[in-house]
Amino acid sequence: MTTVYKFGGASIQDAAAIRHLGEVLATTRERPLVVVVSAMGKTTNALEALLTAARSYDDRDYRSRLDELRSAHLATVDALFGDRKAAVAERVEALFEELDRRHRTHRQEPRPFHYDQTICFGELLSTTLVAAWLNEIGTATDWHDARELIVTDARHQAANVDWPATRERIRALDGDRLLLTQGFIGGTPDGVSTTLGREGSDFSAAIFAHCLEAGELVIWKDVPGLFNADPRRFDNAVQLQRLSYDEAIELAWHGAKVIHPKTLAPLREKGIPLKVRSFEELDAPPSVISAEGASAVTPAFILAEEQVLLELRPRDFSFMDEARQHDILGRLVEAGEHANLVDSGATRLSLCLDAHPARLEPLVESLAADYALERHDDLTLLTVRHPTEPLLEALSGDREILAERCNRDTAQRLFRSSECPETWHLPDQEGKGAGQSVR
Ligand code: ASP
Ligand code: MG
Repeated sequence: MTTVYKFGGASIQDAAAIRHLGEVLATTRERPLVVVVSAMGKTTNALEALLTAARSYDDRDYRSRLDELRSAHLATVDALFGDRKAAVAERVEALFEELDRRHRTHRQEPRPFHYDQTICFGELLSTTLVAAWLNEIGTATDWHDARELIVTDARHQAANVDWPATRERIRALDGDRLLLTQGFIGGTPDGVSTTLGREGSDFSAAIFAHCLEAGELVIWKDVPGLFNADPRRFDNAVQLQRLSYDEAIELAWHGAKVIHPKTLAPLREKGIPLKVRSFEELDAPPSVISAEGASAVTPAFILAEEQVLLELRPRDFSFMDEARQHDILGRLVEAGEHANLVDSGATRLSLCLDAHPARLEPLVESLAADYALERHDDLTLLTVRHPTEPLLEALSGDREILAERCNRDTAQRLFRSSECPETWHLPDQEGKGAGQSVR
């Protein structure tokens, strides 16, 4: 049975990290093995800045950013291969020349198209380097271009997968060598590059796992697994060792930045377990997401910051009925906005939205034209899965709650960010649920 591995940017950020990846893969006997890799470190952010410079015809900024990225990649080649670097360095140089050419030819095209033709180079570069390194250390590896395997429509920057076509191409792959490919990128049937949305490499790995009916997908991370809260923002967070697809989908949907939300559906459909493992502590127990899930359910906590609350009322004091809600939510769909909390009353609809200026401001303008609108900025939304009253009370303190929603398994409370702590204190959960304490 095929195994699929996914490594993110942090696990290949420099020569030392790539060496470590090589050691991890050298000890893996599983074959067939498909390895999906992101761009190195923060390369995708750097490529986005390069795109902005190219589109604003700021040639000095563009050149310096391009040179910086090229030097960083070549420095890694140098550190890895030393005086055996010529062939790899040549391939990396050729990719940068191609990237530069594409910026020049596409900068008058619509931004999403230009984006996909250039941002894909982050993954093309990283996999070129990693494949060469694996072969150098004796782990026989075949490099594959994901743009020829993951077939999508031409909805640039958020392409939709053509599952039958993708399945056909992926299933045609064979061989017992390690198969290395890129996350995040795909291509249309006529070979135009597309991307699946930021942080989309997890989803790519799930696509490969689904199409190959893999035995498992392992996502390697710089943390030991999935936690019931972001350990950087909450003390007493515990690792979740087993959870169900449904619970993981809920956590991802509510903004837990652990795995890309689209990752789970293709796995659940085929019953493929997802393991989240530590790249740094190889002996640490992984978190496993599967149909079985955990017997006891551990409360989980998610923060969404930079939130805006809109309270809308019909101007004529009429009811906030289905027709009006339909109108308002329809405008959200058009604006590409997602409401993190929706709450309605007889004459009111409250929406908590991400403060993404380019999407939010035109939406607010359109709503204010037809509804009485009250707006609160700089808010933090706390979502608690499997809440208990004492937990909610302990977390809320005497802070004012600007909006809230609670059902059987999820509670949400909206606070002013200025009143929220830097680190949230979770009551000690030792021994409760399926968790294991973080050191
Ligand atoms: N490199 C892409 C990004 O940074 C995809 C990924 O890392 O998942 O968004
Ligand atoms: Mg990533």
